[in-house]
Parts: sequence; structure tokens; C-alpha cells
Amino acid sequence: MLTAIGWLDPGVVERWRRGQIDCIESAVQTSLPRILEALTLLQSWAAERGLSPTQADYVARTPQRQTLRFSRSGDPAIEARYRTRWVSPELPEKKRERLIAEASRAPELVVVRPLENAWTCHRCGGSGDFLMMENPGPVCLRCMDLDHLEFLPAGDALLSRRVKAKSTTFAIVVRFSRSRRRYERQGLLVEPQVLSDVQRELGAQRRGDPAG
Ligand SMILES: [Zn+2]
Repeated sequence: MLTAIGWLDPGVVERWRRGQIDCIESAVQTSLPRILEALTLLQSWAAERGLSPTQADYVARTPQRQTLRFSRSGDPAIEARYRTRWVSPELPEKKRERLIAEASRAPELVVVRPLENAWTCHRCGGSGDFLMMENPGPVCLRCMDLDHLEFLPAGDALLSRRVKAKSTTFAIVVRFSRSRRRYERQGLLVEPQVLSDVQRELGAQRRGDPAG
């Protein structure tokens, strides 16, 4: 809403999402009382229309997945006001649940498999087979605390889906296609232990043995 009325630059929101800005209030282009007034107006507008409040989680697009902060104070009551989303009670229950789940889902990490290995991590000067993009430049997996992950090439959809569901940390791997001029999915970076567990489970199932 703050973006729609021009008080907040969309680029700022993107940087906040990546954990590069401390809190929204420090970046908003208006005074704090005006923001709180706007939130109050939104609340009464929603109440008049019988919309029900739901709380969405906002999680950073970083390996640490930290909860993002809106206010300078971090006061739980104020944070709750910012995180509130208003949903029409006329929506079917299932659809409401899905909307809330989607709004709260942590954004997926994206890792690039570079076409050439001649690149330098802007933090440590190192390099590697994978990188993540930050504002100042590419970063290696060690600096992002992701170097314990293992590459799982795309191809076995069921395996990928299960490993992804069980991994606390995972990243989507993409590579730029020169001919198609866009990034294409190559597979996932996943936790090696989860990968071997799921491979064993699936192997047993596919052979028709009881799992375990
Ligand atoms: Zn590095």
C-alpha cells in the first residue's frame, strides 16, 4: 500500500527483502505519524467492508531467512499492524488459506551457474562453480554460508520435489542461455544428508520394498 501511494520506492522494498535495509520506516519518504495514520485509515476502511485481518510473515531473501522488520522500534504491536493483510470473508476457506500461505512463503534463493568460471567474489576475492548476485557484485557460496549444499541436477521431478520439501535450506540453480536469452533452471542446491535420505526412500519405493 505504501508503494502504491508513492511513499515507498519499489526498489527499496526489493533491497529490504534482500536484507540490505534495516527497517521499512527508515526508508519511507514520509513521517512516522503519517504512516500510522494511513494504517489506521486502512484498518477502518477494511472494517467497514467486513474484511478479516490475517497476519503474514515477511522473511528475507537471504540464506539466514531472518524475519524482516518494519518499524524502527521493533515493537511487536506496531509490527503486527504492518504485517496485517485484509482478506474478504466471501472467499472460500481454501482459497483464503492459500492466499495467506502464499503471502507468507519465504522467497526462494536463486544461485547462478556462470557460463565462465572467470569471476571474482566481491567479498573474499574467491570464485567457484556457483554464485549469488548482490548489489556490489557476485558472491561465492562460502561467503553466503551455502557451500555445504550439493548440486542436484533437474530431471527427476519427484526426487527434486521431495528433497526441496524436506530441506531447511535450498536454492534454485539457473544458468543463462545465450541462444534463448534468458535464465533457465538447471536444478537445485540441497542439503546432502536430505538428498541421500530421500534417494534411499525413493529407491526402496521404486523397487516396491516398504520404505525404511
Ligand atoms: Zn566469497
